Amino acid sequence: MAVLNASVITIGDELLIGQTIDTNSAYIAQELNKMGIWVRRRVAVGDVKEEIIQALEEERRCSQLIVITGGLGPTADDITKPLLTEYFGGKLVVNPKVLEHITYLFEKIYRRPGPILERNLKQAEVPDTCTVLHNARGSAPGMWFETDPGNLAKSVAVISLPGVPHEMKGLMEEEVLPRLQGRFRTPAIVHRTAFTAGQGESVIAELLLDFEKKLPPHIRLAYLPNYGMVKLRLTSQGDDAAMVEQEIAPYFQQLQMLVKDYLVSNEDEGLEIVIGKLLKARGKTMGTAESCTGGYIAHLITSIPGSSAYFLGAVVSYANAVKENVLHVKKETLQTAGAVSEETVREMVQGVLDVLQTDYALAVSGIMGPDGGTEAKPVGTVWVAAGSREKTVTVQLHLRFDRQRNISMTASRALDFLRRFILTNN
Ligand code: AMP
Ligand code: MG
Repeated sequence: MAVLNASVITIGDELLIGQTIDTNSAYIAQELNKMGIWVRRRVAVGDVKEEIIQALEEERRCSQLIVITGGLGPTADDITKPLLTEYFGGKLVVNPKVLEHITYLFEKIYRRPGPILERNLKQAEVPDTCTVLHNARGSAPGMWFETDPGNLAKSVAVISLPGVPHEMKGLMEEEVLPRLQGRFRTPAIVHRTAFTAGQGESVIAELLLDFEKKLPPHIRLAYLPNYGMVKLRLTSQGDDAAMVEQEIAPYFQQLQMLVKDYLVSNEDEGLEIVIGKLLKARGKTMGTAESCTGGYIAHLITSIPGSSAYFLGAVVSYANAVKENVLHVKKETLQTAGAVSEETVREMVQGVLDVLQTDYALAVSGIMGPDGGTEAKPVGTVWVAAGSREKTVTVQLHLRFDRQRNISMTASRALDFLRRFILTNN
């Protein structure tokens, strides 16, 4: 099957001067790639007519699909719509459906007093040469043009979307991606993802050395490392999805066996999801006592919908007084062993089990930097404890990153530690 090439053009002076980070083209590229469309080039241009036209001319030479974002707002610097109208030889006409949607947004949702501004009403005007894509989240509709509507095999599809990221995403999901499947013949792409934690990618790569060598050339293995975990993704493609699935299955089985000591999940899901599933399956609850992560672990867990079924709460015991008064860590423990110590995290776990009345608890205390380190306890020293009423286990971490990464790494390592504890202490 011929590879379908795409280009992404992002429009806006703010992108060129680095004031806004271009996240749109990364998202679009990921989504297109998932469906087997190869993003060949990504181009950013300013709000300048000639530059935008030049980019279009260049990209249509190498791509069958061009996705544009930006320049569709109601202000004078937003020139994409008139420009595309002219480029595709059409004229602007009021689209009654878009007008109705804009009226609804301004009267019912935004509740802006007074009549709708002329510049907003003008957003209901669309070129008569495009297919209008409904923007449920905003007033600027998306537009789909074809350079050669009479001959789709030769035509280049040009899709213009607003720059506001959540509007662009909504349009991609609801309007663009489903239409692309009908418009182009795209290959079936199958990904299988295994999720490992507790080992870096070099160690994992050693385990997979022979496996990787023996993979057929059309099945690719990708390593996607992130704080304390590595995602391993096998990808294959072909004409028929069922056949590709069948072919990739034994390789994925083998891969899971090879990394079994570190395997967290055979789906593309993080530790907080895996822990949630474990707790739900057992009908158990948990809570956290967090010093150095300041509630970040609780944040990760509660980012998962439905976490209220198993997560009861957190005590952010940043100050020693809170460790003492709320979690009942002993004064002597804090004085003799210190706030960052095995003894303290043990008592934090037992304290939070009591205070929150949960089945499991996780506690962390550490020095995240840049200050606060000593010779005995340098920056990056962290104690983690996981426990239940019957038992508490601890581990010490030695991290070596900056503050932000130390916090992320602590959270990830602690969650994996709790996961292992739950698995072995039902
Ligand atoms: P526009 O459609 O050009 O009016 O863009 C509206 C807003 O969307 C801008 O103010 C930016 O904050 C944001 N935006 C535009 N292009 C991008 C992009 N490529 N990536 C992320 N945000 C963007
Ligand atoms: Mg703009």
